[in-house]
Amino acid sequence: TPDHGTMLDLLRASVARAPACEIIRYFDGVLTLAELDRASDALAAALLDRGFTAGDRLALYLQNNPAFVIGLLAAWKAGGIAVAINPMNKHRELTYLLADSGSTALLCLDELHADVVRAVIASGQTDVRLVITASAFDRQQRIDPRLFAHATKPVADDALDLETLLEQYAGRTPPPAAPEPDDVAVLTYTSGTTGVPKGALNTHRNLAFNAQTYRDWMALTPDDRVLGVAPLFHITGLVGHVGIALLTPCPLVLTHRFHPGVVLDAIREHRPTFTVAAITVFISLAGQPDATPEDFGSVRIAYSGGAPIAPAVRDRLRATTGLEIYNIYGLTETNSPSHAVPFGAAAPVDPASGALSIGVPVFSTVVRILGDDGAELPVGEVGEIAIRGPQVVPGYWNKPDATAESIPDGELRTGDVGFMDADGWFYLVDRKKDMINAAGYKIWPREVEDVLYAHPAVREAAVVGVPDAYRGETVKAFVSLLPGASATPAELVEYCRENMAAYKYPRTVELVDELPKTTTGKILRRELRGRT
Ligand code: ATP
Repeated sequence: TPDHGTMLDLLRASVARAPACEIIRYFDGVLTLAELDRASDALAAALLDRGFTAGDRLALYLQNNPAFVIGLLAAWKAGGIAVAINPMNKHRELTYLLADSGSTALLCLDELHADVVRAVIASGQTDVRLVITASAFDRQQRIDPRLFAHATKPVADDALDLETLLEQYAGRTPPPAAPEPDDVAVLTYTSGTTGVPKGALNTHRNLAFNAQTYRDWMALTPDDRVLGVAPLFHITGLVGHVGIALLTPCPLVLTHRFHPGVVLDAIREHRPTFTVAAITVFISLAGQPDATPEDFGSVRIAYSGGAPIAPAVRDRLRATTGLEIYNIYGLTETNSPSHAVPFGAAAPVDPASGALSIGVPVFSTVVRILGDDGAELPVGEVGEIAIRGPQVVPGYWNKPDATAESIPDGELRTGDVGFMDADGWFYLVDRKKDMINAAGYKIWPREVEDVLYAHPAVREAAVVGVPDAYRGETVKAFVSLLPGASATPAELVEYCRENMAAYKYPRTVELVDELPKTTTGKILRRELRGRT
């Protein structure tokens, strides 16, 4: 694998090779690589004119739209760092993230965040001096009205408009920025289930290396088209969508956010060949009432990451959509993949737990399984997954203690528990902190969920521990049913009782219409625990 160095080197090589590549397709709008390059030059020049200097942070508080990609590249071209912020965040979270990252500039969307951004800036709790707003409704982009039920009004009278800036600075080029491969390119924040959110230091090398991992692992070519359904602020979107599109280069189809009907229409129109997303994304696309296998016919490579895949769900998706879904595993701290199933390979299922393998370590990645004492465990034994490789972040922004704890000597302790089989395939048991302890019996929610998913009426399942006076904790399942299917909680409890050891089966099952999820599509067990 050649080392492209920085993300800007990678961009420049692609611009030189294929300037006319339609790098972004967004509803009716198309942006070529040359246009994207010029737009990001213009924005970088505008930032520099307004006091943005080397090492400064530009926060991107945006959905999946062209402005995100323009902003990302402009931050680098101006010598700075992009801060990727979940656009679902509200006042409290946005204030924290802007203050923690020390962002001085903010690029956001005009129509959706006006009240939040205005209040955060007015609070004086951040260093943001420059607010630039992009409009989702600009001339070319007649964006789907289904996405804008909650549009509000513009952010602030003194905010700068992105389109106006791009016109004003058209043709301007900033002095060439030359970041080093080990310079930080992006701060992506962990979701903070275990404390305050931490900004992972995603370096240019980290991002460029794993963009190449995707391309080479899946043999992507300029004839491919990427469906950008994972959020761009998340590492999967940054590397698995933007990174590979810029590197290959090939078109990236964006749809503002994940709305299954809108995404299905985009698939029909743009005929993407590749995507990577959480399994819930595939489940919800396949569940659209008008979806047919032909709709998915162009997608030759589909990877699911970020959350476990029950083998029964994979099989069902194959039957209903024709999609063969491959497992990919990684964290924010590994810049997307550390493991993946080789494209075209049949991933094994562990006979004891029923888990589908997460694959094998990707290029140049060394993985160990560690016991509680930190010593490496032999093949087949269950322990914490620890990862070393060119995609592992060097640490967290301004958090030396967290860095020392999670990434001692450059090896990432993932907080995930798993094992490797004799053939070198890895399996994830579950997240360390999600283990349920019922009277001393250790129960891993994923195993119970896999059994529930095998029930013909079950659409989605999540299992959590609930306090129990006798056992300390007991198992509870939240389940949503497939459209038109029926099953009572008692039937589902009975089904589980017949299919697993007595200490594991859920004592209660609660039926819900929809399970709570993160913007990346991960089911939020944490929120479900709060409901019990
Ligand atoms: P936080 O770590 O702050 O709680 P998060 O879980 O959303 O946030 P990410 O870095 O997005 O952070 O997710 C990484 C985690 O996702 C992994 O540690 C693992 O538990 C889970 N995960 C990723 N890929 C897979 C997969 N293929 N199968 C099962 N779980 C996966």
